Amino acid sequence: MFDLDLYERVMELATRRGFLWPAYEIYGGVSGFYDYGPLGASMKKNIEDIWRRHFVVREGFMEIFSPTIGPEEVFLASGHVSSFVDPMTECRKCHQAFRADHLVRDATGTETDGWSYEELEAALARHGVRCPSCGGSLGEVWSYNLMFKTHIGPGSGKVGYLRPETAQAMFILFNRLYDFYRKKLPFGVSQLGKAYRNEISPRQGVIRLREFSQAEAEIFVDPKEKEHPGFETVRDLPLTLVPDGAEEGTHTAGEAVEKGMVCHQYLAYYMALTQRFLEDVGIPRERIRFRQHKRTEMAHYAADCWDAEVYTDRFGWVEMVGIADRTDYDLKAHMEASGAELTAFVQYEEPRHVKRKVIEPDMAKLGPAFRKDAGQVLEALKKASPEGGDL
Ligand SMILES: [Zn+2]
Repeated sequence: MFDLDLYERVMELATRRGFLWPAYEIYGGVSGFYDYGPLGASMKKNIEDIWRRHFVVREGFMEIFSPTIGPEEVFLASGHVSSFVDPMTECRKCHQAFRADHLVRDATGTETDGWSYEELEAALARHGVRCPSCGGSLGEVWSYNLMFKTHIGPGSGKVGYLRPETAQAMFILFNRLYDFYRKKLPFGVSQLGKAYRNEISPRQGVIRLREFSQAEAEIFVDPKEKEHPGFETVRDLPLTLVPDGAEEGTHTAGEAVEKGMVCHQYLAYYMALTQRFLEDVGIPRERIRFRQHKRTEMAHYAADCWDAEVYTDRFGWVEMVGIADRTDYDLKAHMEASGAELTAFVQYEEPRHVKRKVIEPDMAKLGPAFRKDAGQVLEALKKASPEGGDL
């Protein structure tokens, strides 16, 4: 017991006291799956209740519950079939598969964000990278999709996927929700539920699971609306920010927007709310920071994205929540694929009434076995910006 570090002692205690058990233990276990024991289940429920207090009760983002399996069309439209992938390479001798980009990074010390598969293959060959396990030669680089695939009904004709995030239902239900909210923007909706990602090698305890609970909120806003009505309540809250390409520093939410570090009040508002939530579940403020995604690592749908990261002794800074401005990407994608009209009508003061697509949400991933997305919306404005077009 004395040779265990703090993390190992906590995990040992969690097992002994009935918080967390590796799932399917009597069959040897399957990595990436955990059971919550009696105390773990009630702790998880407490955390979810705190999340609901912040986002459902206080912000008024009503909850929905949607199926966790969806037909292929949904994930073709959302981009997950083509983009929710990692580059892999397999050992020709022992047939273990590895992340090609990680092998290149480990061999060369360079980050490979945005590299093509051909570039990764060339770099592996150039540096003579071999299988880390047995030293065998490596095959070509191929694409591994992190979604669990299944079939809906008998036969193999109807392909389905287990959802990799809870957000898509909120986009698909846009018209129902818009009616429910009496056709007024902005409105928010949330969902707490299971999501599934077939991670390559989940090793960080409950931080990276193949089946996990996620809490997401999506807020649909008028793209012309840049000021959040509740911003004064968070304006003076200090946030530790690591903007892309700049030094880490602490700024109030108000300063972050005024200095142009965070693109608008909506995003900064939900970052502040996220910090309050994390502090409420017991994470000290000095262990919380927000890191802006580089363009090359940004999810395929996001125009701007900040991760709330929490410092852990064992794993360093760990992503807990993602707060993204998704623009109208999702609604547009589902409009094109389904033929449904997923738009809001906003009557501006101009002489003519203009019909606009609106929308904008975000998401956040929440930590141990529990991920959340806080939402946000985005502006068509982004589209006009130099980088905005290439989502
Ligand atoms: Zn090998």
